[in-house]
Amino acid sequence: MATIPTGTPDASRRGCQGDESTRGHTSRVFLIHPRMGDSVIEGSTNFACPICETHRLNDYIVVGRGSAPGGVKNFPVLRCRRHGVEFADAPPLPVSDDDRRASLDCLYGTSMEPEFRYVDFMDRVEAVVGRQPGGLLHDVGCGNGQLLFEARRRGWRVQGNDVVSVVRSHIERNGIRCLIGNLSELDLEPESCDVVTSFCVLPHHLTNPTQDMQAVERILKPGGWFVLQFPANGLFRRVGKLVYRMYWPWRPSAFSRFILANLYEPGGHQFAYTHRNLAEYLRACGFGEVAFAPYYPALRFTLARFHARPLWFRAGAFLAVALLRLAAQTFRLPNHAIAYARKAS
Ligand SMILES: [Zn+2]
Repeated sequence: MATIPTGTPDASRRGCQGDESTRGHTSRVFLIHPRMGDSVIEGSTNFACPICETHRLNDYIVVGRGSAPGGVKNFPVLRCRRHGVEFADAPPLPVSDDDRRASLDCLYGTSMEPEFRYVDFMDRVEAVVGRQPGGLLHDVGCGNGQLLFEARRRGWRVQGNDVVSVVRSHIERNGIRCLIGNLSELDLEPESCDVVTSFCVLPHHLTNPTQDMQAVERILKPGGWFVLQFPANGLFRRVGKLVYRMYWPWRPSAFSRFILANLYEPGGHQFAYTHRNLAEYLRACGFGEVAFAPYYPALRFTLARFHARPLWFRAGAFLAVALLRLAAQTFRLPNHAIAYARKAS
């Protein structure tokens, strides 16, 4: 087995005690979920920190409120006081399968040819787990299957699952098993997989990820690896919250709420983790060894979300994202990371 890439655990998180921007503003929870007859800060959240699973509003700090054009308006973003896990506390808007497919095609493409993003990701997977011709790799949230096609080219036996049913015919027509539904609902054989991958899916895209995270651990063989790419607590998130705080709580502007909605989005990046609380969560789901490595996606993938915007907007977004990317690399605050979690042998 190759050496695990080392990453610096995110020691900067101060969420357990709150921080200077939110301390003193907890009374704002009254304004979020007021309940008739309450005389103290009480109430329930829609979603919960997956580590402590508390729905008590008083267990959270209000980070701010996001508002997305064409998306959910004016939703609260909360942070668990104990674990620092942050999330958009609003259910996603209903989305049709066809719209999800269109979004997949736009953000991830449809080509079956080797694509840099998946070649690079599989290089990173194999740098840790080694090349295992004939080993079984399962991809959670496989989308149009590009990662599966790349893994198969390298000799892996592959299979995947996704909640978007329309991807199945394309993948199975090309000879790969594709199951539709959440991983925890599928009848997959326990201890059957050598590696489970998740490229920007688990756990941050799910509103209730614990059952699927435990299912990953269940289908892995002893000593098997779970390799997941996720948005880290990098410069993008930190600068976004700083911009928001420049207004909060006196006059959050449409722009600052838009910034927050780009960091936390109902139905998108619903949850936001740090290295520290993701490691804690993985261990709570049964994994042993956990390590992290920084990950810098190509700019065009980050900017794909703005494809329908006018040219001036895309040019501004390109400049802002390019500068943030340069700064993130300079200050070693990557906006994405890869976690490697191993099931005990
Ligand atoms: Zn918690």
